[in-house]
Amino acid sequence: MPEAVYLSLGSNLGDRAASLNTAIEKLSSLGIVASVSDFYETEPMEVRDQPWFLNCAVKLETEKTAAEVLAGILDIESSMGRHRIQKKGPRTIDIDILLFGASIIQTESLTVPHPAMHERRFVLAPLAEIAPDAMHPALHHSVRDLLDSLPAGQEVRRIAR
Ligand code: ADP
Ligand code: MG
Repeated sequence: MPEAVYLSLGSNLGDRAASLNTAIEKLSSLGIVASVSDFYETEPMEVRDQPWFLNCAVKLETEKTAAEVLAGILDIESSMGRHRIQKKGPRTIDIDILLFGASIIQTESLTVPHPAMHERRFVLAPLAEIAPDAMHPALHHSVRDLLDSLPAGQEVRRIAR
């Protein structure tokens, strides 16, 4: 049985929409890209003095393990010229694993569910569009409920894809 894996994609350097689209195409090497949210323009958090991001969420159905999916997304990031210069700084493409079925994973290189997903409107807004009823396996709340309980703050603007 394939797992339902939810990914968050973001870009804030160069042609952001082109980078998201390229990454989405490349993800089909890891499984079936079953849904893609609209794109969202989002205000940078943490390091705030950088361009706004374009974010989306993707559902991937895959027979691969979480470690294999992580290796695959790191390959896609490097193939797209991502260089890690400043932590939390500008990037051509960032791909994070949000949920891997109902798995809870804690290794040196991988934490799933993504440890900050429930605090981030730029993650939850696109994810709620494609998977409102997906459950967070540790917090036991749906994605819709997590989004609804976020404090006001970060601006996100949905734009057509
Ligand atoms: P960030 O996404 O926090 O800005 P990076 O994209 O540079 O940081 O990722 C750094 C490392 O985070 C990756 O090499 C990977 O080993 C690790 N990591 C841990 N958990 C996850 C996850 N759920 N999704 C993606 N990467 C993760
Ligand atoms: Mg990342």
